[in-house]
Amino acid sequence: MNAAFQRGFLAHEPSDYIGGRMRPLRCAAVDGSSEWIASHDPAQPEVGVWSAAGELSHVQFAIDAARAAGKEWRAASVDDRRAVLRAWRVVLVANEDRIARLITLETGKTLAESTLEAKALADKVAITLDEQSSARITGFNFELSPTRRGVCSFRAHGVMAVIGPFNFPAHLPNGHFVPAMLAGNTIVFKPSERAPAVGQLLGELADAAAIPPGVFNVVAGGPKIASALSEHPDIDGILFTGSWSTGRRILAANLDRPGRMIALEMGGSNAAIVCSDCHLKQAVIECVRSAFATAGQRCTCTRRILVDASIADAFIPLFAKVASTLLIGPGDSREPIFMGPLISSAARESVLTFQKRAVREGAAVILAAAKLDREGWFLSPGVIQVQRFDLATDEEVFGPLVQIAVAADDDDAIVQANASRFGLAAAIFTSSEERWKRLAPQVRAGCINWNVGTAGASSRLPFGGLGHSGNNRPAAAFSVDYCAAPIAHLEERTDSAPLPQGMRSF
Ligand code: NAD
Repeated sequence: MNAAFQRGFLAHEPSDYIGGRMRPLRCAAVDGSSEWIASHDPAQPEVGVWSAAGELSHVQFAIDAARAAGKEWRAASVDDRRAVLRAWRVVLVANEDRIARLITLETGKTLAESTLEAKALADKVAITLDEQSSARITGFNFELSPTRRGVCSFRAHGVMAVIGPFNFPAHLPNGHFVPAMLAGNTIVFKPSERAPAVGQLLGELADAAAIPPGVFNVVAGGPKIASALSEHPDIDGILFTGSWSTGRRILAANLDRPGRMIALEMGGSNAAIVCSDCHLKQAVIECVRSAFATAGQRCTCTRRILVDASIADAFIPLFAKVASTLLIGPGDSREPIFMGPLISSAARESVLTFQKRAVREGAAVILAAAKLDREGWFLSPGVIQVQRFDLATDEEVFGPLVQIAVAADDDDAIVQANASRFGLAAAIFTSSEERWKRLAPQVRAGCINWNVGTAGASSRLPFGGLGHSGNNRPAAAFSVDYCAAPIAHLEERTDSAPLPQGMRSF
């Protein structure tokens, strides 16, 4: 069953979008030249949302189409490209509800979250076209002498592979390809194999927006097709959002291509520091929200909480109580649910396996993450208390399970917060601005919030992480930076070159 097509979310049966044309995919057994992928409604796994055999040969077709379209796209004026992106925005706004409902069907996110994601697509276009963002890749010049100028221009990289995750299947890839297209690049987008229908919908909408054929292409596939794309010699860059283990594979496969632009947005083991003087209610609400938003499947979810010893007895039971009352249900429920199911049965098992192991190693269960007694890949929020956080046991657990440790004081909280190879998001809860300003510079993360949970970001700010979370190519407002290379020029208007020392006249 292909519910995405049958329920009218998609205009076409499972297809790729290449060179301005839908290319139907086989819905039959795979061979060596293809890769079977299938997505399901996580709240009702017997409902198949999208399934087909991704075609390996389509990687080459899409790169060829993107390469062919690139010449004209780069040569077009920035104003022409801006006009195309404005048309993309209009189509996104007109299809907001369709996009949101399909995201919920395919990923299980609540409709409220999917609606915010769908709105963020159009907002990304507006923010990218905004002066502040596009000025970052606008050239400049200055007089070096009466006849000589220094000029900086920006040049698109060429064909960019955009590889997306399942948890924000539309917003995060769009966050890469809008600035990339503005800068003059062309795109081959490989959506998550767990949200291929959303990927195809973006292809269909690109067609509706009359993005010139070949400028934006979509190829469905899993790891096999993704690696064929990211290792392909004819691409110029990879804009990736996903896990550290996959990002590492991309880096390893590209060691001999130092000139290839690789922007990696990866996972996190995000810490919240709850200080002795925090506003308790604010800290509890924000920490619960950030730990369990999207059923704990956001890169910025709070994974570790450091609570000061002096308020641990007040904070921990309250936190667990609020977590235990979160409303869970299918993403499109009528009642205002907080979180939906996990993306897959395997994702749910890996959270439960981590919880079991942590308990074997001495963690105390305050609230057990447990399967719900209903169909769907639901998991209730889990809270465990550990002795200390340390580097040896740190990992990203991508689901609704949060670990709490008690910190002796602020210095201890900082040491434990930094005991991670990741460095994406952090939060500090204190009523003192002086304390916030003293602690924030000591935390190793790319996004650090004050009295706001880790799962909160603004598209008008940079968004990225350090260490295993990212390679210093922040996205959001700074995403244009990795979409164009600055080129330096010295320009001389006359033939007045002075003879250098040691050169004879002719
Ligand atoms: P994932 O790493 O499993 O998959 C991401 C994408 O990589 C998929 O499209 C997949 O097909 C592709 N892929 C698989 N093997 C590949 C290979 N060898 N070469 C190239 N691409 C390959 O991630 P996921 O489970 O979809 O998403 C969850 C992860 O993403 C979490 O770790 C989360 O923290 C992270 N994430 C990070 C951000 C951020 O902005 N920092 C945002 C969202 C999610």
